Amino acid sequence: MERGIFLQPANIKNKMVREHLEKTIFQTVELAEILRFQSKIKTGLERFCIWGVIPGTKSKWNKIQMGDLVAFYSEKKFYLLGQIVDKFHNKTLARHLWGENENGETWEYIYLIDPDSLIQIEVDLEKVIDVLNYSPNFVLQSALYHQNPELMELFTDKLLEESDKSQDIITTVQREKIVATIGKYRRNHSFSIKVKQNYDNKCAICGIPNEGAIVDAAHVKPVKDGGPDIEENGIALCKVHHHLFDAGLITIKDGKLAVSPTASSDLRIHPLISEFESKNVVLKRTSEKFLKWHNENIFKG
Ligand SMILES: [Zn+2]
Repeated sequence: MERGIFLQPANIKNKMVREHLEKTIFQTVELAEILRFQSKIKTGLERFCIWGVIPGTKSKWNKIQMGDLVAFYSEKKFYLLGQIVDKFHNKTLARHLWGENENGETWEYIYLIDPDSLIQIEVDLEKVIDVLNYSPNFVLQSALYHQNPELMELFTDKLLEESDKSQDIITTVQREKIVATIGKYRRNHSFSIKVKQNYDNKCAICGIPNEGAIVDAAHVKPVKDGGPDIEENGIALCKVHHHLFDAGLITIKDGKLAVSPTASSDLRIHPLISEFESKNVVLKRTSEKFLKWHNENIFKG
């Protein structure tokens, strides 16, 4: 899945913003404090950087996916970059952390950032405007979300460059981890491109072309199980076949599409399955080794 970036205005000239940055970004917030207000946190971290947006920005916040980047912006420059690890709506926590603004609103659409991923950057708004083809007079007033490989490169390139320089403002940053995180993004990005190219940008099972970004570069052995970002562990699948594959309802066995006996009859007779069951799936660089792993560990055979 293509990673996105959340462009977050946070004007450091504003005293309230500075206080919020100090309290919930630089000093970080302990998991226990969050758990008093929010019962479920998906990641295993012990502390977080936290930020949020007011209800007016909810539609942009809705687009954030775990693993996306956030770039903080002030006075024509993006100055902080981090990786988002969770998000949730919680008005009580927001009030507890930041109170409310002059309109009685609070930053209740919350996202959590991995503190170890946080890094100081310097990316000019001008360059972002360039990449996004916005008017030169564009003013970044409220948060924006973009899934744009070029934009992602602009920020991550900067990071790799900057990672050798000395740190001056943010002292808590752990550079090695940041570089590793960013390196992972770049590998992910090229993984996705290569795998889809290998399959001619079509689903390996049904052949639907990648229009409307319907085709994913799926990991055969999932990343969470230690599956690597290499072409041999990738297969191009449309959203439907990707989900069924990850759920263990289908797999590729002996070069053919196999359907799990646990699949319902409604699923089994659906054309997206029945038309392709037991038919050949032509593999393009996808390795049998990883498929075997999928057969044995994910597929409900
Ligand atoms: Zn498909």
